[in-house]
Amino acid sequence: MTTIAFIGLGIMGSPMAVNLTRSGHAVAGFNRSAHRTQALVDAGGRAASSIADAVREAEVIITMLPDSPDVAKVILEPGGVFEFAQPGATVIDMSTIKPAVSRDIAREGEAQGIHVLDAPVSGGESAAVEGSLSIMVGGSAAAFELTRPVLEAMGTTIAHVGPSGAGQTVKSANQLIVAGTIQLVAEALTLLRAQGVDQERAVEVLSGGLAGSAVLDRKAASMLAGNFTPGFRVGLHHKDLGIVAESARAAGVAAPLGSLVSVLMASLVAEGKGDLDHSALLLLTERMSGLAEHSPVGA
Ligand code: NAD
Repeated sequence: MTTIAFIGLGIMGSPMAVNLTRSGHAVAGFNRSAHRTQALVDAGGRAASSIADAVREAEVIITMLPDSPDVAKVILEPGGVFEFAQPGATVIDMSTIKPAVSRDIAREGEAQGIHVLDAPVSGGESAAVEGSLSIMVGGSAAAFELTRPVLEAMGTTIAHVGPSGAGQTVKSANQLIVAGTIQLVAEALTLLRAQGVDQERAVEVLSGGLAGSAVLDRKAASMLAGNFTPGFRVGLHHKDLGIVAESARAAGVAAPLGSLVSVLMASLVAEGKGDLDHSALLLLTERMSGLAEHSPVGA
């Protein structure tokens, strides 16, 4: 059993903290809006009153926050994780943030005798609930091996991919593939609709061939139903495509399709649809095609 602090109990963090508790770990959860600790408490965990309260006794401290500035604030600023964590503790940041920020945090941590791993995840809310996330880990191999049992309570595909920041780089590749695939699925569904073909039958047969994908399997049905309840918010994917663009530019890599889908995602945010699921790219595609939009559930 490991004593764990879990900070950021949102769509992903809440079920991840619940799974850690169910696996027998002692979990203290802290979230900015306190009501988000309820599911953890119902599962047998503890609601912490502050970051200090959560991390003082913790051997492992997990953060699952929206963006780079949130993670930097919670870990580095006065009153944050590094002020109260015990030497020898391991911080695992599972948020999706800029690789450079992960590297800065790791450097600061090592200077204080605190191990730091970047361990972003893929699989979405359903995998967080099932404990079947893919987890891509950057940082020291020794810290990874030490905390593997903790990661195994949340995920099934777990890989150490390199030094600090490498987990975030793999995650940005993941987000590039997912955004591009959703857009192509949106275009295919719109084409089928415009041609009057039965979209559900079409998806069934497409899923069995080379066009099949996790996106088609997990998103097509809700897209066809006009259900854009998040899941993964457009606003967060917009943030991730910014990370992709920055990394690609720094490395001199051309990602033309990534750039295009990034503009489409930004356009959804500008229209005030940042809180819909990222599969709402369908709405934009339908409108650009002169078709009446599905009325979105979850707006
Ligand atoms: P979310 O917005 O639902 O959850 C974030 C939580 O952090 C919220 O409950 C918020 O109150 C809390 N929070 C923010 N600032 C805080 C602070 N200073 N102190 C304490 N709590 C604070 O987001 P999410 O969907 O759970 O995503 C979290 C991270 O995981 C993001 O980086 C996202 O990109 C990534 N991610 C999300 C998914 C998904 O499908 N939702 C999938 C993979 C990765």
